[in-house]
Amino acid sequence: MNDVSPSVKRVIFIVWFLLVPAGMWYAYQSYPPPSSAKWLDILAFFLLATIVASMPIVINEMFIFLIQWVTLVVFLKFGLFVEMVFAQISIVVLLVRLSVLRKGEWFRLPLNLIMFFLVSFISGTVYYLIGGQLAPSLSTDSHALWLAAFYALLNYLLNQVIVSFNLYFIYKIKEPIFSKDLFVETITTFVTFPIGFVLYILYHQVGLLAILFVGIPFVSLSIIFNLYYSSQKMNEHLQKAAEIGHQMAERLNVDDVVNLFIQRLSEILPVDYAYILEVQGDKLVIDRMVHHGQVVSHQFPGLKKNEGISGVVWAKEKAFLFHSRKEWRKFANGYLPEQAESILSVPIVRSKKIIGVLVLASKRKHSYEKFQLSMVDILCSYFAVAIENAKHYERTKIQSERCPLTKLYNFRYFEGMLTKEFEKLTRFERKCLSLIILDIDHFKNINDTYGHQSGNEILMDIAGRISKLVANRGTVARYGGEEFVVLLPDTEKQEAFQIAELIRQSIANWPFILYQALDQDKKKLQVKITVSIGVATAPEDAEDALALVRHADRALYVGAKRAGRNRVAEYSTC
Ligand code: GH3
Ligand code: MG
Ligand code: MG
Repeated sequence: MNDVSPSVKRVIFIVWFLLVPAGMWYAYQSYPPPSSAKWLDILAFFLLATIVASMPIVINEMFIFLIQWVTLVVFLKFGLFVEMVFAQISIVVLLVRLSVLRKGEWFRLPLNLIMFFLVSFISGTVYYLIGGQLAPSLSTDSHALWLAAFYALLNYLLNQVIVSFNLYFIYKIKEPIFSKDLFVETITTFVTFPIGFVLYILYHQVGLLAILFVGIPFVSLSIIFNLYYSSQKMNEHLQKAAEIGHQMAERLNVDDVVNLFIQRLSEILPVDYAYILEVQGDKLVIDRMVHHGQVVSHQFPGLKKNEGISGVVWAKEKAFLFHSRKEWRKFANGYLPEQAESILSVPIVRSKKIIGVLVLASKRKHSYEKFQLSMVDILCSYFAVAIENAKHYERTKIQSERCPLTKLYNFRYFEGMLTKEFEKLTRFERKCLSLIILDIDHFKNINDTYGHQSGNEILMDIAGRISKLVANRGTVARYGGEEFVVLLPDTEKQEAFQIAELIRQSIANWPFILYQALDQDKKKLQVKITVSIGVATAPEDAEDALALVRHADRALYVGAKRAGRNRVAEYSTC
């Protein structure tokens, strides 16, 4: 709903102050309750009106307020003033019931009071002007029945005109005049008016019992209606949840799953703040923090069980729903913003184990309903499965692409990358492509002297040194046993040679520490290692991927190894 400006709100309060109390006083003077009216009866009708007002029928997010049939009877029986008091009180009950009177929205109360005042006052005075009487005998006098029907119609029409006026001029909502809402409301109003006439006639004949005869079936029907629509709404939500579940299952990337989950939740629920926390050991750590649709970085320490709202959800293993800040303030632990009011927090469970907690918050009070909790609960289980699948996929992908010892890409990955890069070269998306091949000198001796395990330590250390030097300039892979490759897209041979030289120096100049092999004094051993390196660049040295590897390899063996090791050689010079 569009925001209403403060000056308009002020005008609404002033108009109410000037119009309604004085108008009510005038109505009391001109159309007071008849002296024959019994207070007990007025009280009984008042009770009926309050019950009906507190049970609006909900259809597709729309509240249908069926108080008119009660106020019709009250108007005919007790006159305009009593009807006006009833209408005013009913609107207060309804607004409280719908929890619309939030901070900054209080203007809705005087606005609705003015609206109902006008509807009551105009239709009531018109009724008297055209000859309508107090307490007419509807069962015997058809003229009186017509006048009463005219009053009911006028009351309804005025109500519609004033509602449209409000929507258009105050809320600035430009809806078509003949909307679906209007249609549904007209039908329900016209269905309920006859109930008013029946109640009136019956009341005339059997007195207060009439309220029970008509009131009880009506109130029961309202309850059944509401139950029906809320179950229909739940159904729709479940369908939506299943759809989101399928979409999440299709994602293979953990980040994608998390993003989709939060995005979809924000579409179906009012979400200003969303948090996904993950159980890591004995702590609950914030994994994702989204404020108003934007991912926010944070530095909150992990939470223990029972710490903060999510810690309580984790410990108690159940979902929580809070309608306002007052209800959760005592558990809060600091990561929720000042403005948060409603909170919905659900454990994320996989194989009967809590793996995380979801926290959704809204700036408005009473944003979430109980049935939404069950829907989010279902969505969280879909989310848990999707996350597990995506994690599994990512893990398998890493395993299939990387060498378990050095964590570098493996030969298979390198081959794919080389083919892709060569294709880019042939499409002229790249200017050139350099390849560095590196082989450790006399590595067999290291294994023979210090053992295979120490050899492995050196391989890991070398992998680290190469990766650090290359950084994001290219891709480092383990080519085979103690051979490594570096693929450098858009890198001229000269630059590739320099990088290779830096790699050679970083290995030759810094001895390697062997943690596994201790000498007699239990001191860590240090060994010096050298490497031989070959460099080739496409397109100048090779026209296809295989040739590039062959030529770099040739530079390594002929240009570097044969020439004495611990050196870098490029293909063209040998
Ligand atoms: P050079 O290359 O200088 O001619 O001599 P080299 O001793 O390195 O000779 P070569 O390349 O033929 O020997 C490779 C050795 O690397 C043989 C093998 O024991 C060792 N090696 C290969 N893979 C691994 C591994 O994963 N771990 C360890 N510790 N050693 C490995
Ligand atoms: Mg070798
Ligand atoms: Mg070797």
